[in-house]
Amino acid sequence: MDQELLRQYAAFAVRVGVNPQHGQTLIISAPIEGADFVRLCAQEAYDVGVREVVVKYDDEKLNRIRMERTELNVLTDVKPYILRSYLDYADSEGGACILNVIASDPEIYKGLDAEKINRVSAARREALKQWREKTLKDEVQWSIVAIPSAAWAAKIFPGQPDAEEKLWQAIFDVCRVKKGADVVAAWKEHVTKTIARKDRLNALQLESIRLQSNNGTDLTVGLAEGHVWEGAQSTTPNGYTFIANIPTEEVFTAPHREKVNGVVYGTKPYVYNGNLIENFWVRFENGLIVEHHAEKGEELLTKLLDTDPGARRIGEIALVPASSPINQSGLLFYNTLFDENAACHIAFGQGYPGTVQGGNNMTQEELLRCGVNESLVHEDVMVGAPDMTITGITKNGETVRIFENGEWAF
Ligand code: ZN
Ligand code: ZN
Repeated sequence: MDQELLRQYAAFAVRVGVNPQHGQTLIISAPIEGADFVRLCAQEAYDVGVREVVVKYDDEKLNRIRMERTELNVLTDVKPYILRSYLDYADSEGGACILNVIASDPEIYKGLDAEKINRVSAARREALKQWREKTLKDEVQWSIVAIPSAAWAAKIFPGQPDAEEKLWQAIFDVCRVKKGADVVAAWKEHVTKTIARKDRLNALQLESIRLQSNNGTDLTVGLAEGHVWEGAQSTTPNGYTFIANIPTEEVFTAPHREKVNGVVYGTKPYVYNGNLIENFWVRFENGLIVEHHAEKGEELLTKLLDTDPGARRIGEIALVPASSPINQSGLLFYNTLFDENAACHIAFGQGYPGTVQGGNNMTQEELLRCGVNESLVHEDVMVGAPDMTITGITKNGETVRIFENGEWAF
């Protein structure tokens, strides 16, 4: 693969994505297959002036062996040093930020006991809650960036010998990484446009939005009290900007956990813990999913919704136009990081505190009172359709067209 493009991608991921500051520690979590990319990122970070780059390698093939052969009670006993391995850096001089490099095989856990996988990931999320909250509340810069793995590429381009090369090209394309182009400048422009849209939505002071499309979707999403539309970039309390998900095309906010009503249809397959859920629909009553169905993976969807009481409610509503580069690529990436940026989506489970005014300084009870959902899971599912209409209803009862035929109406 083109070394120049790879270097540009690393520079973009580090300098625009996680944006480490002089004197900070950059934690990079990455699959063992990503060592070349990680070295490029580490060089970029040291060029910026970080204090130290700390790399945590992961091996998902080994994780599968462990998942299969280790007792559940051992796997769910997450040792405290794992949490400390993040907090020790976050609490140290200069603080820390994290770049998560992913290259997952979407079906790595295929055929394994879904409940076991679910309980192990829930235990891990619970054990890492303190660190997870730091990222959820944008107290540290964090960013997720993907690189191909052989298994992931084969899933997208089955039977093609150059699948991995093709996936690299697809990632470069949707991330605006081009020969001779200034990727950092291209992203600054994209960020400016997205910020203008979220500012417009915030100025409208919406009470709810209604999503409609010909596939049967008719969903009214009441918004949380004091909701704020976010998008493109996030900012830490110190004023450091970062892009949490690379690439990003969404403008999103907090639904009110008790004010969602109607039916919504999934429009793209959705990968949960390495297994596929396809052609699903869910029906809400006062925020709660009271009925659901999936043509494929229904049992898995049920398990996901039964993770905890909050998993049956939504914590995010995100708007993405049909013209997004990810949708235009025509590819299903089998990875939420990309696929969620192909279409409007909702997330089952946890809401982002930052999507209500002052939310990052609120207690859990205060957030719940505003309507921000609480759960151990946050799972984005794509519901946007090319013919989707979205109407906003303002606090004064006026209606405003937000999306027309799957595109921004302004
Ligand atoms: Zn989202
Ligand atoms: Zn999400």
